[in-house]
Amino acid sequence: MEKFNISEDYMPIFEDIKALKEVFWINPNLKKFDNVEENLPLSFEDVLDAEERLNRFKPYLKKVFPQTKDGTIESYISTIGRMKRRMEEDYNTDIHGKLILKRDDSLPIAGSIKARGGIYEVLKHAETLAIENGLLSTDDDYSKLADEKFRKFFSQYTVQVGSTGNLGLSIGIMSAKLGFNVKVHMSSDAKQWKKDLLRSKGVEVIEYSSDYSKAVEEGRKLSMLNPKSYFIDDENSVDLFLGYAVAGLRVKRQLDDMNIIVDEDHPLFVYLPCGVGGGPGGVAYGLKYMYKDNVHCFFAEPTHSPAMLLGLITELHDKISVQDIGIDNKTEADGLAVGRPSSFVGSIMDSILSGEFTIEDNRLYKFLVSLADEENIYLEPSALAGFLGPVILSGEKGEEYLRKHNLLDKKANITHMCWATGGSLVPETIMKEYYNKGKKLIIGS
Ligand SMILES: *Cc1c(COP(=O)(O)O)cnc(C)c1O
Repeated sequence: MEKFNISEDYMPIFEDIKALKEVFWINPNLKKFDNVEENLPLSFEDVLDAEERLNRFKPYLKKVFPQTKDGTIESYISTIGRMKRRMEEDYNTDIHGKLILKRDDSLPIAGSIKARGGIYEVLKHAETLAIENGLLSTDDDYSKLADEKFRKFFSQYTVQVGSTGNLGLSIGIMSAKLGFNVKVHMSSDAKQWKKDLLRSKGVEVIEYSSDYSKAVEEGRKLSMLNPKSYFIDDENSVDLFLGYAVAGLRVKRQLDDMNIIVDEDHPLFVYLPCGVGGGPGGVAYGLKYMYKDNVHCFFAEPTHSPAMLLGLITELHDKISVQDIGIDNKTEADGLAVGRPSSFVGSIMDSILSGEFTIEDNRLYKFLVSLADEENIYLEPSALAGFLGPVILSGEKGEEYLRKHNLLDKKANITHMCWATGGSLVPETIMKEYYNKGKKLIIGS
């Protein structure tokens, strides 16, 4: 770890983070989007290019994954009024405006937000290889990629990735379908059922007794030894990020269809569970392009894994880990069990993220039960981290943010969108255990 200085303003929050308390942080570096856009390392054209690539792959995806219907990997948005009322009761508060849920738990193929970035990067890699070898042109009907000829071609190549679970699922399932050899390097947090599911698809799962950063490091090293191996680098990948960012374009269309207005008088607040940062970062990036200063993005991290928050407040990004300040990175939210953030993502978020908050694991389970009871929606623990957002933003601490942005008199017009990042692939018996655990916590409190 480098020596670090923390500005005095941050000192109290730094002590609270160290003490594993739940915190709310407002980003002092947030800028007007028009003023930062030209300094960002990626452009809107890059996001559009990613969407066009996904469109080219539709005929292929439709053929090999009929559950995508027309070959689109997209989720719907649910209005969750009953959950809103339940949260108001449980937290004795009034949540301003509307509460909606982006259902990435139901994304086809991989059942989590990773189906966006992960699948996109694998497809892009396959397209590049096929084009370079004269087997494909961008005008072709991509359904031909399902032919045995292509599977045989891809079988000369390997794709590798380090993961806490869900990225491995998304990369593994997609790569194996195309015909690639796949090696997934899984951190100790990865759930057994995720490893079992991957192995059942013919994916080689390599298990580590250490955390995510180590699994990525080892995977990267091993991949470099093989010139025909491609490493999907969750800590640095531009392609993953762009795959996630396409969500911004899609959400805009969906909210338009739902007649949900987002403008200066009708702000959109989005709460995204954050691990290494690529998923929530990419989504936030895409949303910023669509809505600029009228969208306010907040990340949510477990109190035991506040990697992105620590990187942002110290401005050290990947030069600091939660372990450096004595935090153990042990959380039930396996998708968020990351101790060191992506510096690529952190440096972009520095000027476009509205803020962050941390949440205790127990609360994730309570939200899990409430959402199941009120809306019959079952999410994995990581995916519930955002739910504390609307509570915070409707309370005293949130008022500071609303005042800063002249939104106090527009409270009633806010649309709160929690991002449900995963859940539909969780086996029923395991979901039952989660639910029972949450029930016990609720009764005990
Ligand atoms: C991976 C994951 C996240 C966070 O994405 P990052 O890119 O790691 O920040 C959130 N929720 C779930 C369920 C995930 O699997």
